[in-house]
Amino acid sequence: MSRLECIECGDSYPSDEARYTCSCGGLLEVIYESIPSRSDFSGPLGVWRYSSVLPIDTAGSVTLDEGGTPLYDADKLSREIGVDVHVKHEGMNPTGSFKDRGMTVGVSKAIELGIDRVACASTGNTSAALAAYGAAADIPAVVLLPQDKVALGKVAQALMHGATLVELDGNFDECLSIVRELAEDGFFYVLNSVNPYRLEGQKTIAFEVLEQLNWEVPDVTVLPVGNAGNISAIYKGYRELRRAGIIDEIPRMVGVQAEGASPLASAVKKGGPLEPFDDPETKATAIRIGDPVNAPKARIAIEETDGEALYVSDDDLLETQLQLARLEGIGVEPASATSVAGVKRLKEEGWLDGDEKVVCVATGHLLKDPDAALAATDDPLQADASTEAVREVLK
Ligand SMILES: *Cc1c(COP(=O)(O)O)cnc(C)c1O
Ligand SMILES: [Zn+2]
Repeated sequence: MSRLECIECGDSYPSDEARYTCSCGGLLEVIYESIPSRSDFSGPLGVWRYSSVLPIDTAGSVTLDEGGTPLYDADKLSREIGVDVHVKHEGMNPTGSFKDRGMTVGVSKAIELGIDRVACASTGNTSAALAAYGAAADIPAVVLLPQDKVALGKVAQALMHGATLVELDGNFDECLSIVRELAEDGFFYVLNSVNPYRLEGQKTIAFEVLEQLNWEVPDVTVLPVGNAGNISAIYKGYRELRRAGIIDEIPRMVGVQAEGASPLASAVKKGGPLEPFDDPETKATAIRIGDPVNAPKARIAIEETDGEALYVSDDDLLETQLQLARLEGIGVEPASATSVAGVKRLKEEGWLDGDEKVVCVATGHLLKDPDAALAATDDPLQADASTEAVREVLK
């Protein structure tokens, strides 16, 4: 049994109505009456292993086998940075990003609520995931995208899975505010991370990380931040495990933004209210967001765990993307590399000593953004189609 509760005023709402925020404007989160135990977790590693702590009556009704992603021991990278880094590769989900975890739960909830059309604003990955899960559930999906600012692979996915794409001459924040207004009019059901059910799916990253570490709690969890939903979700996952007595401590939560889109990092540094960036800009298009909707939840996660928010430059995140690819064989898109780039910066600044166990979430797959990969690398060698010519160029 679950209900929705406002993080600002504590008002609660039943879980059988389509509602995104409290009447006071505050963000909502899903609260459960019962507490899970480890023996409630059953089935293969993946989102629906944790159905006892997911707010869906018909567990797994819309699924593409999401979750169960690898947690890599990044030994060479760890030696280079001087911190024990593990990489949770969320790019290994069905559509290539962690958004699938949110969509399997969010679209299942939409079906339970009897919704007949779903929608999102997207920097790319949300649209790919919504399109695929919409197809799986046989429910029409609409996505609003900022024109020319979405990586190629993601647009291809959304089109291929049959979503209706609308490109706007504006940024992500504008797309989202339009989607939210249309949703208030009942035009469709929103599956952006303002939707508390989506975050429930994403919290399973925390559960999986702990299982993969044999329930040894890492010291720090680091992830890229755009709309700030995922950091809030993972923190909620850890909190629920602590409430259940399954773990005693919660890792410090660290959010990393790209310099040109870093309103959360600035707000956390200054300690004041969040001042949106009107023209966010970064090559990490997945996190090109100026006014993160879930900032209030993310700030709680960071403050309550003595965590941190920071930014890295585009040069640093692109260099780290290449390093992950070449040193470890881990292929991620630019935004995903901000987590590891952030760890480097925190080590340089002394925020990390070097004896911590750090889990970095890599949010999306390398193939999402082929243009970024080509821009970061040299062109292939050319040769005539003869053995001699190939021997010559490889000398
Ligand atoms: C969506 C996304 C993010 C940002 O996640 P938020 O929950 O919006 O903070 C980061 N990286 C990638 C690859 C994404 O697709
Ligand atoms: Zn409220």
